[in-house]
Amino acid sequence: MSRVYLGLGSNLGDSRALLRLVPQQLTAAGVEIIAASSLYRSEPWGGVPQPPFLNAVLAVETEMPPHTLLDLCQGIELAAGRERKVHWGARTLDIDILLFGEEQIDDERLQVPHPYLTQREFVLAPLAELSPQLSVKGKTVATWLSELPPQGVQRIENSKTW
Ligand code: ATP
Ligand code: CA
Ligand code: CA
Repeated sequence: MSRVYLGLGSNLGDSRALLRLVPQQLTAAGVEIIAASSLYRSEPWGGVPQPPFLNAVLAVETEMPPHTLLDLCQGIELAAGRERKVHWGARTLDIDILLFGEEQIDDERLQVPHPYLTQREFVLAPLAELSPQLSVKGKTVATWLSELPPQGVQRIENSKTW
């Protein structure tokens, strides 16, 4: 059984409803939801002008191999109407595999730990709620977060209500 952290984001459509779909669909596929972070509102990252995002992180456990979980996540994105147009552009739903146990993966479909994990407040802030002492690339999540300049990320709702 692997402990996996998933980063969720949406800035098109009914973002809150789309984010809520994710734990439902994962559960239906046999993935166990261990914890959900609060919901965050964040300024877009990466320079493409677009509406603000809603973001959250889920901790899950699964027996699935990493690429099978990626297939499942991409299927959920498609079901949510995801289209890939502009790189780092607006999307109905994005599900990134942030961490997959202790695994280090670097192939054409999957890089784990997620390459931008340590640079993004909208990932580190919700992840730090769930596992502040988790070690990633030689530092804890809490340390990475404390070293980051503010990027316009606000906690807007606790994990029980979104
Ligand atoms: P970013 O990865 O910088 O957050 P993005 O989420 O906008 O960008 P996508 O268009 O959603 O990027 O995904 C592009 C490709 O990234 C996917 O088709 C997938 O194969 C690949 N990928 C590589 N590593 C991961 C990962 N850890 N989680 C999800 N997808 C990944
Ligand atoms: Ca992403
Ligand atoms: Ca993605």
